[in-house]
This record gives sequence, C-alpha cells and structure tokens, in this order.
Amino acid sequence: TLKEKSQLLTSLNTQNLLDSVDAFLFDCDGVIWKGDSLIDGVSDTLDFLRSMGKELVFVTNNSTKSRRQYAKKFHSVGISVSEDEIFSSSFAAAMYLKVNKFPKEKKVYVIGEEGILEELELAGFTPLGGPHLILLSIVLCTMLHLLQVGAVVVGLDQYINFYKLHYGTLCIRENPGCLFIATNRDAVGNLTDLQEWPGAGCMVGAICGTTQKDPIVVGKPSTFLMDFLLEKFNIPTSKMCMVGDRLDTDILFGQNSGCRTLLVFSGVTKESDLQDPSNQIHPEYMTTALSDILHLTNN
Ligand code: PLP
Ligand code: CA
Repeated sequence: TLKEKSQLLTSLNTQNLLDSVDAFLFDCDGVIWKGDSLIDGVSDTLDFLRSMGKELVFVTNNSTKSRRQYAKKFHSVGISVSEDEIFSSSFAAAMYLKVNKFPKEKKVYVIGEEGILEELELAGFTPLGGPHLILLSIVLCTMLHLLQVGAVVVGLDQYINFYKLHYGTLCIRENPGCLFIATNRDAVGNLTDLQEWPGAGCMVGAICGTTQKDPIVVGKPSTFLMDFLLEKFNIPTSKMCMVGDRLDTDILFGQNSGCRTLLVFSGVTKESDLQDPSNQIHPEYMTTALSDILHLTNN
C-alpha cells in the first residue's frame, strides 16, 4: 500500500483529513521555516489548526539547538510554541540515554553543538566535548576521562576537526560497550536559507568509517522519538498526521509508526522526485505548502 500513488490535497480530502486527525506532527525546516525565514502562511495555518483543537507537535532533526532554544526561535519568528511541543534530535539523544538508564556517573562525549550539551545537562548527564573544544583540552580530556566515557553522541558540528574525530573514535574503540548514538543522518541541512550545508550525516559517517560500527539513530526516521512522543500524547498514530518535506526522514518516520502523511514541496523534495523509479517512499497526500490546508478549507 505504501506504493500507492499519492493524492494532491483538495478541498474534499483536506476536510476529511481535518475531520479524522487529532494531532499534526510538523517537521520544521522546509515546512515551518527555511533556515531562519518563516514560510508564507504558516503562522495563520497553525492558528487555524489550534482553533480547531488540534494537538501540534514539532519534530526536527537539527540537533544544534535545544528545545529551549527552539522555543526562542519560534517566538522570534512570531509563533507561540511551548517547549514540550518540541521534539528535537538533541532532546531525543538525551531521552534515549535516560530511557535506557545510562549511568549518571559515566560521561558522554559529544561531537555536536550547544543543543546536545544543554539537553544532556538538563537530563542530568555529564557531557564532554561540544563545539568549541580545542586541541589542548582534547589532549587533557583524553588522558583524564577516556575510560569514563560510556556514550558518544554525534550530531552536526560546524567546528568539526581531526582531533574530535580521533577522540570520539578512541572512546568507542577503547571502551567495550560504549554507545554510539547519532542524533540524525541527514546528508545536508539548511543552516541558513541561502543554500544547503553538510548535515550530521557527514560527522556520523566519519565515525562509522573509523569504528566500523553502525550508530543508534534517535532522530527521524527512527521509531525511538515517535514512541517517546506517543507516551506524552494519548493519541493513536492513526489519528496523527506527519507533515514533512523529506521522504527518507519525515514521511518514512510517519509511515514507520502508522501515521497519516503529508508531503509539502516547500522544502527539499520536488514533485518529480516521487516519480523517480528508485523512490520507494510515497506519502498519502502531497501539496505545495502547509498553508494549503488553510486555503483549501472553506471557513
Ligand atoms: N540538520 C541540520 C544541520 C539542518 O540544518 C537541518 C535543516 O536545516 C536539518 C538537520 C533538518 O531539520 P528538519 O528535520 O527540521 O528538517
Ligand atoms: Ca525538513
């Protein structure tokens, strides 16, 4: 059934979707904003869905910010969202350790940015590393803490360097049982609205290469984050709709758990990508942008 043709949103099926869905899960980049610019009509559409009593959840693979920092970003673009409606892959990494009872006395080495450090600390863990680690501190880090590291978390790090890769590799190779967690494996991301930049797949791939190990992925499309948010919201997945711009993260994430799915073309996917014979992922619905939900509804 996943190979069935996707339907374009129409007035009729939009109304059906609204009638049968209690929660909308939104991918952020490519749906809500592009880099730092809000996409047209998003604010009014979210207000409309809230006025209908829909639960709204925001799920982003970009690990560079914490939930608190994302709530600030939403406010700065004029959208009111609370921290507990936000599920970022940085938060997912911290929750993975928490759910799996990672010992608090062990340390977590981070190849990544502030968002991961903040979420780990909020969950009571002790991160090492992070964006601004310099060579000298890596040497000290290596000597003092190597054997205390029980997990390596890898996300996008714009300040990646050889020594960080070296230390992350050592942690995994020298400590039997050391967890290797990837926030996400996106090949590219829109850090700004100007262009695409290398994504976390770059740093994760480097550590896969040196350790010959596969990571535990906690962001989309893995089911970890979905299972976690399902515990918070008492809504069956058949009454949830995942809205995203990417097939292999967002749409697969929704389909892996039995959610309804809507692909929007305001991000990285073009309509022609769906016709590509190598593509196996087909959303239930597709449309130009999120605001079509508002425009196609007669109210
Ligand atoms: N990772 C990085 C570094 C990004 O810049 C982006 C998008 O900007 C993403 C991941 C994907 O984020 P989302 O899941 O919100 O589309
Ligand atoms: Ca996206």
